[in-house]
Amino acid sequence: MKSYRKELWFTVPTRRAFINITPQVEAGLRESGIQEGMVLCNAMHITASVFINDDESGLHHDYEIWLEKLAPHGPVTQYRHNVGEDNADAHMKRQIMGREVVVAVTGGKLDLGPWEQIFYGEFDGRRKKRVLVKIIGE
Ligand code: ZN
Repeated sequence: MKSYRKELWFTVPTRRAFINITPQVEAGLRESGIQEGMVLCNAMHITASVFINDDESGLHHDYEIWLEKLAPHGPVTQYRHNVGEDNADAHMKRQIMGREVVVAVTGGKLDLGPWEQIFYGEFDGRRKKRVLVKIIGE
């Protein structure tokens, strides 16, 4: 069995953003040379997510509104976590949007559904953060 590991680094200039990382994951898969197996892709930070959905700007806007209703950023004093920091909402947004995805590898390609794309969800940006790509298979 082959194994491959790569870190994708991001410095998002805004507090929140959704970034399509499918091309970077596909590049890792090509580098790995693995034809049949599994890709695990996870955020390595507790205020960021990796998730799969549609690359459609309306939907991403809707996520932003929905997440802000569920876990509003402010007032920051509403959260006990916000002692010396202001990112309690980012922890909650991460919890809702998930930590990782697993994608099957078939014939050297990501075996995604027709509209599925892999996203990095940033909820407390403006600093260096990373995503782990781990691929195992033959
Ligand atoms: Zn925190």
